[in-house]
Amino acid sequence: MPPADRRHTAYARCSTHENDRTTPADRTTKGPTMDFDLSAEEREIRDWVRTFVRKEIVPLEPQVLERERRGERGLTADELKGLQDKARSSGFFGIQTPESHGGMGQGAVVAALIEIELGRSFVPFRFAGEADNILFSATEEQQETYLRPTIEGTRKSCFAITEPGAGSDARAIRTSARREGDEWVINGEKTFITGGHEADFVMVFAVTDKEKGADGGVTCFLVDRDRGWTSTPIDTMGEWGPAALVFEDVRVPHSAILGEEGKGFELAMRWIGKGRYMLPARALGSCERLVEMGMEWARNRVTFGQPIAERQAIQWMVADSAVEIEALRWLVLTAAWQVDRGIDSRQSQSMAKLYGGVKANEIVDRVLQMHGGMGYTRELPVERWYRELRLLRIYEGTDEIQRRTIARNLLKGHATVRGHLG
Ligand SMILES: Cc1cc2nc3c(=O)[nH]c(=O)nc-3n(C[C@H](O)[C@H](O)[C@H](O)COP(=O)(O)OP(=O)(O)OC[C@H]3O[C@@H](n4cnc5c(N)ncnc54)[C@H](O)[C@@H]3O)c2cc1C
Repeated sequence: MPPADRRHTAYARCSTHENDRTTPADRTTKGPTMDFDLSAEEREIRDWVRTFVRKEIVPLEPQVLERERRGERGLTADELKGLQDKARSSGFFGIQTPESHGGMGQGAVVAALIEIELGRSFVPFRFAGEADNILFSATEEQQETYLRPTIEGTRKSCFAITEPGAGSDARAIRTSARREGDEWVINGEKTFITGGHEADFVMVFAVTDKEKGADGGVTCFLVDRDRGWTSTPIDTMGEWGPAALVFEDVRVPHSAILGEEGKGFELAMRWIGKGRYMLPARALGSCERLVEMGMEWARNRVTFGQPIAERQAIQWMVADSAVEIEALRWLVLTAAWQVDRGIDSRQSQSMAKLYGGVKANEIVDRVLQMHGGMGYTRELPVERWYRELRLLRIYEGTDEIQRRTIARNLLKGHATVRGHLG
């Protein structure tokens, strides 16, 4: 039998479609076991955000770029609020915030789809109405003081676990809280705290039992700024900076504990694990836009009598980027889908975060390369994205820590290389 025929026979034997007697139409009506499509509602929400980004956000880009070049914020607080109010009037408020708290109560897949669309612009926009996931486990009284105002945007939170001596190794934190009667006295230093200079209150993690440490001896406290902690902004290579926080004999009542005494480390892990798929989702949107920009440039830039788009070197950059974007899309959406299904998604989330960080950086570098000298200038936003995307390989778990998690899960048998399909 000629090789081509042998291949055909082998395919016929393996192919389930050849063996079952249903027609493609039957299979569709029975419902496929795998569905890579979006529901009508998901598509509608995604399309609304896509239009909003195109009409309301993208036109602001030149102005945002100009302001950032002057060292100013890209959007003023009023401008951000104006955009958020506009979105809210169409129901876009608190994407993942439960409906009981006035939000849309959407799941992880919809949140990821939205984040991808928002990532297509570097304008620092986000929908209003979100709050840190761990604030939802606050007491009724704490919810009144912290959760509801955060959702309404009248108070700003920040999350503080990292310290100068404890980043990847978060279990090594030294900030302490000492009990004195009905009060706790907090001492220590936190660093790289996003929003730490603007926040009205902090969710700070402190050691309350040195013997137990992260295994039952870390507690989370809700601490208003007027209790006396101080903040100093940290300059970064990105357009906005986190802050260093100092706690010197900061006193809080016992009722400031979020969750339970000694259960702070679990809360911290819940906050960090809330959405590792969300950071790569945003980067994915940025990569889509960057590759579109790169292709547009390549079609128009002529060297040696031909557009550079005609050159294989450039075409391979486009092709590799498109494949990686598609792979990232499915890593992100699989992780989000698992979250919605209540399946343990930690392995998938780490994979999405790692792959997103690595590939987004490779893609932005290629797109910068396609632009030649112009890519390196501040006239185009490519270098801005180049600097912004670099952070993805560091915060909320560095590349190395994601690899450590992924390998450990595999080696200890918590996950298999066959993924969730088994
Ligand atoms: C802009 C920005 C915003 C941030 N926002 C927040 C925030 O809001 N709240 C907060 O609490 N923290 C925040 N962080 C802190 C961030 O999570 C940490 O920077 C990050 O976890 C890495 O910790 P580190 O900087 O101490 O690096 P280190 O832990 O010192 O790591 C240094 C290097 O060693 C590698 N490494 C460490 N351990 C291992 C190991 N076991 N095996 C192999 N390699 C290893 C790391 O991957 C890294 O490459 C932010 C950081 C930045 C830059």
